[in-house]
Amino acid sequence: MFDRQGTVFADVILPLPLQGTFTYSIPQELAAKAAAGSRVLVQFGKKKYYTGVIASVTTIPPEKPYEIKEVMALLDDYPVTTRLQLRLWEWISEYYLCPIGDVLKAALPAGLKPESQTRIGLNPAWEREETNLLEEEAALITILESRGPMTMEDIVAATDNPEATLIVDSLIEQGVVEVAEHVVERYRPKRETMVRLLIPRGDHSALHDAMESVSRAPRQEKLLMAWLELSGWMRREEEMREVSRQELLEKSGVTAASLKGLQEKGFMETYRKVINRFATPVSSVQPLAPLSSAQERALKEITESFAEKTVTLLHGVTSSGKTEVYSHLISRVIARGESVLYLVPEISLTTQLTDRLRRVFGDELIVYHSKFTDNERVDIYRRILSDNPPRLILGVRSSVFLPIVGLGLIIVDEEHESSFKQYDPAPRYNARDAAIMLASQCGAKVLLGSATPSIETYYKATHGKYGLVTLSERFGEACLPEVEIIDMREARKKKEAVGILSNRLRYATAETLRGGKQAIMFQNRRGFAPVVICRQCGWTPKCENCDVALVYHKQSATLHCHYCGFTRTLPNVCPACGVNDIDVYGYGTERIAEIFHKAFDGYRVARMDLDTTRNKDSQQEIIEEFARKETDILVGTQMVTKGLDFAGVELVGVLSADTLMNFPDFRSNERAFNMLEQVAGRAGRRGQGGKVMIQTSRPDEPLLNFVRNHDYLGFYQSEIADREAFGYPPFSRVINIYLRNKDSRKAEGAARLLADALRQTFGQRVLGPNKPFVSRVNTWYLQTIMLKIEASASMKRVKEILRAVYESLAGQPEFKGTMIHYDVDPA
Ligand code: ADP
Ligand code: ZN
Ligand code: ZN
Repeated sequence: MFDRQGTVFADVILPLPLQGTFTYSIPQELAAKAAAGSRVLVQFGKKKYYTGVIASVTTIPPEKPYEIKEVMALLDDYPVTTRLQLRLWEWISEYYLCPIGDVLKAALPAGLKPESQTRIGLNPAWEREETNLLEEEAALITILESRGPMTMEDIVAATDNPEATLIVDSLIEQGVVEVAEHVVERYRPKRETMVRLLIPRGDHSALHDAMESVSRAPRQEKLLMAWLELSGWMRREEEMREVSRQELLEKSGVTAASLKGLQEKGFMETYRKVINRFATPVSSVQPLAPLSSAQERALKEITESFAEKTVTLLHGVTSSGKTEVYSHLISRVIARGESVLYLVPEISLTTQLTDRLRRVFGDELIVYHSKFTDNERVDIYRRILSDNPPRLILGVRSSVFLPIVGLGLIIVDEEHESSFKQYDPAPRYNARDAAIMLASQCGAKVLLGSATPSIETYYKATHGKYGLVTLSERFGEACLPEVEIIDMREARKKKEAVGILSNRLRYATAETLRGGKQAIMFQNRRGFAPVVICRQCGWTPKCENCDVALVYHKQSATLHCHYCGFTRTLPNVCPACGVNDIDVYGYGTERIAEIFHKAFDGYRVARMDLDTTRNKDSQQEIIEEFARKETDILVGTQMVTKGLDFAGVELVGVLSADTLMNFPDFRSNERAFNMLEQVAGRAGRRGQGGKVMIQTSRPDEPLLNFVRNHDYLGFYQSEIADREAFGYPPFSRVINIYLRNKDSRKAEGAARLLADALRQTFGQRVLGPNKPFVSRVNTWYLQTIMLKIEASASMKRVKEILRAVYESLAGQPEFKGTMIHYDVDPA
C-alpha cells in the first residue's frame, strides 16, 4: 500500500459493459496533465489492459478497501472529449439503463479506442537447453524469435497450421511462451511529403547564387521556379504557404530525380507533415437565398420562441423551405461565434445537404457519418477539437457525441424519424432526445423540424413545453400533391391490374415519363420475393438461426435472412418432396424495379435499398444520377421517403400501403402515416401538378384519408386520443425489457419469473411476457416484457427497482444463460 496523502485519483470509464467507473491513482509525473476527458491505459483484472477515459480527477482518496492500481500511461496531452460530453454520457447511461462503458464505445470513433488484443511471445525466462521440443514446436519458436509477439490469428497464418493453438497451449504449459496483452493504437494520421527551400526568405543574393548553379540543369531550374511560385517566397506582401512534393512535381512537370539533384546541392529538403484529409479548397461562398414572407415570419417566430424556450418545433409541410429557414438561423449563430450541430436521420440526406450548405457556408461545414473510414472519422473528430474548428457540423445520430465547443444551436431535421433511435447494440439512445439534453446542459437552443412531427413532440409543442412555429404552404408556386387511393381488390376484380401494378399507376407513370418528368416508386421490402413455396407440398425455406422465412434475391439467385444475414442457394428441386415445382410470391424492390424496367422500355430504372447501397459511395451516386435526370424511375425502400429534394419528380407511387399498416405496436399508425406523407412529399416540389398514388386493398383505413387530405392535425387528434385511452406515450413512458436464451424453455421461464417479480412492485404497469413477432433471432429465443411507467416517475428510482429485482433473480437456474437488456422509449 502506498501513502494516499497528496495523491491524485482518477475515476475511469472503461469500454466494458459494467456499471460505474473505476478508480486509479495517477503517478506524480502525470498528475499535472491528467484531466477529465483524457484517455489512459489501465490494467483491469490480472491480465487485461484497457484504454479508458477519465471521467473526473480528485485528490480525495476513495473509501475503498482494495488496493488501487496506478494509471499506466496517459495517452493524450489534451482531453479527447469535453466535460459537457461526459455529462451527456452519464445521462444516457442513467436514462437508457445501460453501462457507461457502452456509451463510451458509441461515443468515440474506433480509431480513438485502442483495444486490447492478446499476443503470444517467448518467455524471456525460458532456457532452450532444458527443454525437449517437438519439431513443430521448434518451428513456431523460430518464427516467434524472428517476428516478436504475435496474435493467434497471425500464428495460424504463419505456420499454415490450423492446429497451431494446440502447439501454443503445450508451449505455454512448458513455460516456453507467454501470453501478453498488447494495446494497438489504430489511428494513423495521414502524412504527406513537403518540400522547402533552404534559403531564408528575403535572402536574394543566396537565391541568385542558387539560380546560377542550376542554370545548366534546366529541369532543376524549372523545379526551383515552380517552388518559388507555389510558395509565394518572392511575393513579399503575401504569407508563404507550404508546398507538397506531389504538387511541386506536377506543377513543374519534371521527375523526382531533379528534386533529388537540388537536395544534393543543399538547396532544398523534404519533410513529412500530418495533413488533414478534408482540406477542401476555399470555395466561393454564395449569399443566402432571401426568404419568402412566410419563411421570414417563421424565422422571426423561432427567434422569439428561443428567447423563452430551449426547444422549438418547426412544423412545416414538405417543401415549405425548412432547410432555407435553418440556413438563415445557422448563419446568425455562426456570426455570433457559436457552433451549430445539424442532425439528419439518414446518410442520403447528408449527401444532398452537403452541396446546398457548402455553397453558403463553405469551409465552416463538416460532415460526419458512418460511411467514413475510421481514420477519416478520427480526422474529423480532431478538427472539431482543434483551436479553429468548423462551425457547422452536419451528421447522423452519432454526431451528438462530437466534442463541439461553443454550441449555440442544434437542428434536428425530420425529428419524427425512428432512425434517430439506436436499436442495437447499447446504448439504445434517441439522438433527438440526447440533443435536447445536451442543449439544456449548455444553454444552447434546439430546433426540431418536421412535416409530420412525432406524436410526443407535437403534444409537447401544444402543451407549452416546446415552442411551436408553423409553415403551412409550400415554397413558391408549388402546392401539395394530389393523392389518389387505388383500391387494388376492385382493380383486380375488374381486371385493371397486372400483378402488383394497377393500370392507373401504369398510365400515370407513362404520362409522367412522356412529359420528361421523373417518378419514385416506394415498396417497403427489399429482395425479389418474400415468399418461396413448393407448390407440391407447401415447403418454404426458413432461416437456420431465426424464426423467419427466407427472402428470394434474384440477381444472386440466393435466399436471404433479413435478420441475421444467413444465405443459401435456391434449390432446384424441393428438399421436402423432391419435385421441381418451387415458386416465388410477393414483391420486393428488386422485383418492382424489374417490373418497371420491362413495362417502360427505353427508360432508366434505378433501385435504392440496403442491397444497392452497401458500397461507400453507391447511395450518393444513385441520388446524384437521379438528380441529374440520368435515371427516370427510382424504386426504393424507406430510403426514398426521407427528406430528399428532387426538382423533376412529378409522380410518387406506393406499391402497397398494406404492409405498412396495422402492426401490433402502438407506433404502427404513426409510422405508416409518416412514411406515406413523407414519400408523398417528394412529388411536385417545383411548380404545379405533383401526384401521389397509393395502392391498397384496404382503401377505407382512416389513416389513408388523412394522407389524402395532408391532414396532419386530424391524424394527430385521432392518434392522441387513442394514446390517452390506452395509456401510451406521451401519457406514459414505455420500457421494453428483452430477454434471450438459446434454450426456448429457459427464455420463457426467465421472462415469466421476471414479469411476476416486477408485478409485485409495478403492478398493472407490467405487460407480458410475450413472444415478439420474430421470436428467434440469430439462434436466440426472445421474450419481451413491457413496462408502462407514469411520464413523471423518476427514472433513477425505476432503474433501482429494475436492478434490485434482476439481482434477486439472477441466481435462479432459469436465468443461467439468459441475457437481458432494456429499451427505453422504443421507437
Ligand atoms: P423542406 O426542407 O421544407 O422540405 P426545402 O428547404 O427543401 O423544403 O425547400 C424545397 C425547395 O424549395 C428547395 O429546392 C429549395 O431550394 C426551394 N426553396 C425554399 N425556400 C426558398 C427560398 N426562400 N428561395 C429560393 N428557393 C427556396
Ligand atoms: Zn415440395
Ligand atoms: Zn436469420
